[in-house]
Amino acid sequence: MKVVSLASGSKGNAYLVESEGQTLLVDCGISCRTLVERMCRTGFELASLAGVVVTHNHHDHIDGLPVLHRKLPDVPIFANLMTAEACEATNHQVKEDFFTLFENGQEFDLGPFCIHPFSIPHDVPDPVGFVVRADGKTYFHATDLGLPLKSVGMKFREADVATLESNHDVMLLKSSGRHISLIQRIMGNRGHLSNYQAAELVEEFAGKKLKKLFLAHLSQDCNEPHLALKETCEALKRIGRTDVDVEALEQFAPGRVYDA
Ligand SMILES: [Zn+2]
Ligand SMILES: [Zn+2]
Repeated sequence: MKVVSLASGSKGNAYLVESEGQTLLVDCGISCRTLVERMCRTGFELASLAGVVVTHNHHDHIDGLPVLHRKLPDVPIFANLMTAEACEATNHQVKEDFFTLFENGQEFDLGPFCIHPFSIPHDVPDPVGFVVRADGKTYFHATDLGLPLKSVGMKFREADVATLESNHDVMLLKSSGRHISLIQRIMGNRGHLSNYQAAELVEEFAGKKLKKLFLAHLSQDCNEPHLALKETCEALKRIGRTDVDVEALEQFAPGRVYDA
């Protein structure tokens, strides 16, 4: 199983999982042109795409979907009902048969992938994270969540490779000059994980199999890669796990391809 981030952050998200020559896209919040270009740069072709799974209906996770769907109408786009309805309500290009529906907690198969969607707390209708299994490996994916819940941690514990949000540094966010209501939204229980909260989840739930951790959805104004890395690497050190490779993901460039 290979995993790579094509874009990560509030200006667009797209993550790729590969197995047996087929790829699964988690979210598509970048343009189709950027998607193709970044897949190409990381050694993948659009033709390998078996399907797309959608975490929630915020723009930075879905904006590329309508063009992608026009270009590849036979590639299924999976979402739960409330996410599908929320997308239909706000985007006239998203029609009724646009999505293939899944239910949270119900595993489904797509080519070599077994996909398990699970609930996370965020300020949209019914947001999810995913556990994806293929090649005997387990990938955990959760961005855009307000709390490091135990139910999320229990999924994280299974992972060989994981993508976890590490959105902001609390001090930088508080002194950012942003409107207080926005700061409260980001810090709220249905907002985004801080570096501290991400590290907390990692410290409590990192499983024995974990080898690679991608820190995702870093705020451009209220975070620095070295701050996110420091917080999580110190947490891993405290539990004696200096063997885990941690990488902070970028908004405007793909990450490194990890071969699990
Ligand atoms: Zn987002
Ligand atoms: Zn979001």
